[in-house]
Amino acid sequence: MAEGDSPEAHARDTVAAGAGTVDSAIAALVTGVARDHILDLTARGTPFDRDLAGGYVLNHEAAHSQPRVVRVQGDQAGRKIMETLIAMVRAAPSVQVMERVVAQELIVEGGRVCGLHLARLAEDGSISRAAALRAPAVLLAGGGSGGLYALTTNPPRIRGQVMGMAARAGAVMADMEFVQFHPTAMDLGLDPAPLATEALRGEGARLVTAAGVHFMDGAHPLAELAPRDIVARAVFAQTQAGARPMLDTRAAIGPEINTRFPAVAEACRRAGIDPTRAPIPIAAAAHYHMGGVATDAQGRASLPGLWVCGEAASTGLHGANRLASNGVLEALVFARRAAQDIAPQLGAIPAAPVVLDFPIGGVALEEGLVAQLRQVMTAHVGVRRTATGLAQAITRIRALQALHAPSADFANMCATALLIATAAHNRRESRGAHWRDDFPLPDPALAQRSRLTLAQTGAQMTEVAQA
Ligand SMILES: Cc1cc2nc3c(=O)[nH]c(=O)nc-3n(C[C@H](O)[C@H](O)[C@H](O)COP(=O)(O)OP(=O)(O)OC[C@H]3O[C@@H](n4cnc5c(N)ncnc54)[C@H](O)[C@@H]3O)c2cc1C
Repeated sequence: MAEGDSPEAHARDTVAAGAGTVDSAIAALVTGVARDHILDLTARGTPFDRDLAGGYVLNHEAAHSQPRVVRVQGDQAGRKIMETLIAMVRAAPSVQVMERVVAQELIVEGGRVCGLHLARLAEDGSISRAAALRAPAVLLAGGGSGGLYALTTNPPRIRGQVMGMAARAGAVMADMEFVQFHPTAMDLGLDPAPLATEALRGEGARLVTAAGVHFMDGAHPLAELAPRDIVARAVFAQTQAGARPMLDTRAAIGPEINTRFPAVAEACRRAGIDPTRAPIPIAAAAHYHMGGVATDAQGRASLPGLWVCGEAASTGLHGANRLASNGVLEALVFARRAAQDIAPQLGAIPAAPVVLDFPIGGVALEEGLVAQLRQVMTAHVGVRRTATGLAQAITRIRALQALHAPSADFANMCATALLIATAAHNRRESRGAHWRDDFPLPDPALAQRSRLTLAQTGAQMTEVAQA
């Protein structure tokens, strides 16, 4: 969007951030159409911030070589893009929206996806039994897996359910070990944890322990502005050591935090903290999943009849570490590409509204078991990993799943958790967001994407148990 910027420069930054495993053809494809998608959202009513000359106001986000990211009212871009898209969906006569309905299982016949089972969630949390919906094409867009971790910035509905559903049907998964942790989620006892945006550190806020000791100088020459994964590990180490890491905005930002970072100030207020007088407690939290269902340039998964887009997919754009704000861009680009690929394959289909009968009496989620699963992920499959911890996690995830076998939702979550833990166990090096204490260096021979199926996790873990 900026004079002097180019898709090629954006692609270079994407490849550099991804630490050696980005698919450069996909990076070129996505960055090449980014501008078209922003112009399209603008034409459809997204109120991006403009300067006096009518140009887009651009944020400079981490690891971008120049200001590049369009914004709305400071930090409202996500909300405003969603409002634009929701209004379009509601106005489209060809789209039927079914709210409080969740997909639980794909229907696969003769190796082809030909529909899915859906269940309805009641207001009281109870769930219906599943109803089958047959379809000539299925496009999953159910988001990432951050909520599988006890400490996360993601809402509870994003717990890897859709990835797990595709994996249970036999889809090939890619790059599952690469989970990005945000270094400065606010540790205020809230779930999800609100973000203390990176911009605060850009303004000079300092990372200190509860005792006031500054801990970033020794960790990286760029200190607070070091790459996200390095800051996340430094923060995590302080949490593990019981030193209670904090973000001190007092000297650098002072009372302006209330007007310039209202969302941060509001979250502090809710937790009874005044950031103009005291530092903000923080922790590293699961934020974004680079991995997901392996898809090609059309959004096709390995199973015929199945397309996946957005954070649930792994296109190869992000490699081992996502460049800031490439997440929403990837979702926009591949949603359109998948739709364009699906349309000609459908032929004439009846467009009568779907009427599903949801019988009562389905299996509700046992929240206690979900909490245990999330604790296991944060403790052993999180910011710093070891072979021993990952093997323990795998055994524990399997045991938890067996305790709640009738729940399809829990099976989906456990499948994703198992794939992340197994892929992390398999990758015996540190690269991008994946850190192994027992293999702290990158191995050039391993600079490639990983692929894994759920069936393979079973075979591999039998080997781990025997070892
Ligand atoms: C706090 C925060 C800040 C972020 N900031 C940025 C940013 O600045 N830039 C950026 O690029 N990215 C950012 N991200 C990441 C970005 O928001 C996500 O990558 C993006 O929203 C993914 O879009 P999606 O459409 O794939 O999934 P989502 O937006 O997660 O939507 C998935 C939808 O699927 C529904 N769903 C899930 N499972 C099922 C099921 N089984 N059946 C039916 N429906 C289901 C969910 O309820 C949800 O409505 C941020 C994320 C967080 C949490």
